[in-house]
Amino acid sequence: MNAIQRRVIRASSGDTVAAQPFTPPGTHFGAVLLNAELEPISRRGGEVDLPAPEVETHIQSRFADQVFTSGQELTFEFQGLNYLLRVSTLTVVVPGGEQQTVPRAMLSLATSCVFETRKGSGIKIVGQKSIMTSQLFKQREVSFEKLGIGGLDSQFREMFRRAFESRRLPPSVVERLGIKHRKGILLYGPPGTGKTLIARQLGMMLNGKEPKVVNGPEVLNKYVGASEENIRNLFKDAEEDYLKNGDDSELHVIIFDEIDAICKSRGSVRDGSGVHDTIVNQLLTKIDGVNALNNILVIGMTNRLELLDEALLREGRLDVHMEIGLPDENGRLQILKIHTRNMSEHGFLAGDVDLAELAHRTQNYSGAELEGLVRSATSFALDRETDMADLSKPVVEENIRVTRADFLRALDE
Ligand code: ADP
Repeated sequence: MNAIQRRVIRASSGDTVAAQPFTPPGTHFGAVLLNAELEPISRRGGEVDLPAPEVETHIQSRFADQVFTSGQELTFEFQGLNYLLRVSTLTVVVPGGEQQTVPRAMLSLATSCVFETRKGSGIKIVGQKSIMTSQLFKQREVSFEKLGIGGLDSQFREMFRRAFESRRLPPSVVERLGIKHRKGILLYGPPGTGKTLIARQLGMMLNGKEPKVVNGPEVLNKYVGASEENIRNLFKDAEEDYLKNGDDSELHVIIFDEIDAICKSRGSVRDGSGVHDTIVNQLLTKIDGVNALNNILVIGMTNRLELLDEALLREGRLDVHMEIGLPDENGRLQILKIHTRNMSEHGFLAGDVDLAELAHRTQNYSGAELEGLVRSATSFALDRETDMADLSKPVVEENIRVTRADFLRALDE
């Protein structure tokens, strides 16, 4: 079996697998695959440009000797980018001209299949979660800017290395290496530095959809036992999924914003009720339970690391700790670029605005504060176009210009 086939059946070299003879119904060796159509890979709901014709040509030569099945994943590198695509439907034309959808079991068949693509219908290749991982790490800067996260590339990469490398391996390799997947990470640092952005992005990358974000204080409920129940409920979907599907269940990412609200040091909340301590215990119990399951990743976030119960941070719990600090000058420049990108593309940003100068002048600003600075500068620009004596007068779009002076005023505000 080649790497792709092993991947599909989740086996690694050295594994023992069962094989059965199989005759594909009505198909012949040398079936012609017609009409491969590439869909743009979708990332975060938006579209990523795929150089479709070149990729198609590349796929033709790269996978010429393979039989595909619907649901199969293909990995390949093209022009420095790693792609991981999933075949969603596949049609072959057998000699005689009849079209057939390829059955899943054909995968196990080593035969040759001439891959011919034309515009129209045929193979549909749609993006899957891991595309984003591999693309992101090949093309970090570009992707990060596109995603709207500035100045956190190196932190992101470090976090990936410490917390996620193992998840790219097949289960049997993880076992043989004798390592365990990390179950939790803690992001800490000043407010407004992009912790939530990065956690959401991770969630998206890991399972291709918006992750569940829970706000610490929202979990708390004044009724006895209700907070604990809220915590139990957060883990319920993942637990049920695991019971049903075992290691095949999807990865559930649970993000706790302001985790300090529910996990302050036990004994530190002296309201005489001891309720807080039971809540912490409940959370720890649930996170420990995650070790038995294999499908949950907990990401906690806090601006107040010192408040957290130390037990939460121990090995096997949220044991990867990443500080997300204030951006440096280059980071600030990236963030300013992100938040002025739209206005710049649409001609609203005046030529005298020098983002590098602003990055230099905004020491100790967080990402959120830089975003606020842009908002404030924009409000000064709009104010110029507003006649308080006659608010019914429409704003002339062409006149809107956010200038250097607007930014300097915003800096003073
Ligand atoms: P935190 O979770 O660290 O308190 P957030 O991730 O919620 O901060 O950031 C709040 C907002 O500030 C974001 O929605 C974004 O608009 C802006 N922001 C913060 N950090 C960055 C960053 N590194 N790059 C781009 N925008 C940022």
